[in-house]
Amino acid sequence: MLDEAAFLSEVRAFLDVQLTPDLREAGRNTIGVHSDMAACRLWQRRLHARGWIAPTWPRAYGGAEWGARQRYLFDRECVANDAPVLFAGGIRSLGPLLIESATEAQKARYLPAILTGEDMWCQGFSEPGAGTDLAAVATRARRQGEQYVVNGTKIWTTGAHLSNRMFALVRTCDRGKRQEGLTFLLIDMDSPGLTVKPILGLAGDHECNQIFFDDVAVPVENRVGAENDGWSVAKRLMQLARSNNTPSALVRRSLKRAREALVLSGASVEPSLRHRLSALDIELSAYEQLELASLPSGRVGGENVCLPSMLKLTGTELHQRVVELAAEISGPYGAGALAAIGVNGIELDRGARAMAKHFAVRAATIYSGASEMQRNVIAKQLLS
Ligand SMILES: Cc1cc2nc3c(=O)[nH]c(=O)nc-3n(C[C@H](O)[C@H](O)[C@H](O)COP(=O)(O)OP(=O)(O)OC[C@H]3O[C@@H](n4cnc5c(N)ncnc54)[C@H](O)[C@@H]3O)c2cc1C
Repeated sequence: MLDEAAFLSEVRAFLDVQLTPDLREAGRNTIGVHSDMAACRLWQRRLHARGWIAPTWPRAYGGAEWGARQRYLFDRECVANDAPVLFAGGIRSLGPLLIESATEAQKARYLPAILTGEDMWCQGFSEPGAGTDLAAVATRARRQGEQYVVNGTKIWTTGAHLSNRMFALVRTCDRGKRQEGLTFLLIDMDSPGLTVKPILGLAGDHECNQIFFDDVAVPVENRVGAENDGWSVAKRLMQLARSNNTPSALVRRSLKRAREALVLSGASVEPSLRHRLSALDIELSAYEQLELASLPSGRVGGENVCLPSMLKLTGTELHQRVVELAAEISGPYGAGALAAIGVNGIELDRGARAMAKHFAVRAATIYSGASEMQRNVIAKQLLS
């Protein structure tokens, strides 16, 4: 039985010392899917030193093995104190996948470096001709002795320019069903023949990239699962990713910004905006309860394919409404161009940030599978 008071005082004591003002500022200024990278790295090191970097992982693999309530309390304190948002695909989705599906040698090689932050991972699934229809993946991996030779391109790869490794879905066979010819590979980003080109986002930010593979050699030992069985590995990865794609804590953070904007606007704000903020707060509390009930161990089982899609759909659509409201509350200051970030007074700076956040979160109902696709998954499961 968790002693909540003791746990909370332990967390607060840790945050008081380790969450230094520079990190709090980076957390407050977060616009995209993660905070400033220097702050992320420093915060990751501090969490790792305390044994709290991977709340859901089993202790045997260096995780904290917290239950849902413990994670909720910890996240709530982090939001209240503006902790940075980590660039943490490795911790949130690839690590749990490797724990379930990788060989012992792969676990020993990759898991510790995910925890320390030495390895940063990006996801190479989407291609110019394969997004929602992921089975259309055409990047080819030809087997040559003890390596695959990879040719093709991946697109929209978030954080590829910040990552030293990528997990990717590649085509190894053209016969039979399209899903049966795909393989899941772990690729070093500094491999000869691999090029990363930036794609700028709506907020003028650089998060996404296109990747080109020109005869990139990948050792066969970097394959997760069997050759041509990458579809089932990727499906599981997507379940893990969607179940924590937009944790309630992330939405709570944006709601906090919206409330601050409201306070700053004072009496001048249109009353209906206050009502909408309260209504969204109530919806967010319901989402928190859904999360608490759905993810007791932090990871979804393979049997409930609906649940990750429900969490992803609910979380991202709610988040969009919250950041849209924050932009509306900022009113004319939000209309101040993105270039106003960091200049000319607190209202203009906050307004410009609110608008940039609104733009950035538009993508949340597209990445990790668009909302229409999540609805298809849910409907198929419920109606079958
Ligand atoms: C900011 C951002 C970051 C991303 N990061 C990554 C990443 O790190 N790694 C990665 O691999 N990918 C990433 N993606 C790609 C993302 O997963 C795809 O954009 C997404 O799967 C949609 O694919 P698409 O863009 O090809 O659109 P399409 O598949 O062409 O879809 C276009 C529209 O048609 C709808 N549609 C398509 N098929 C159906 C259907 N059967 N039923 C109903 N509606 C349908 C879609 O919902 C969408 O609204 C990212 C995308 C964005 C925008």
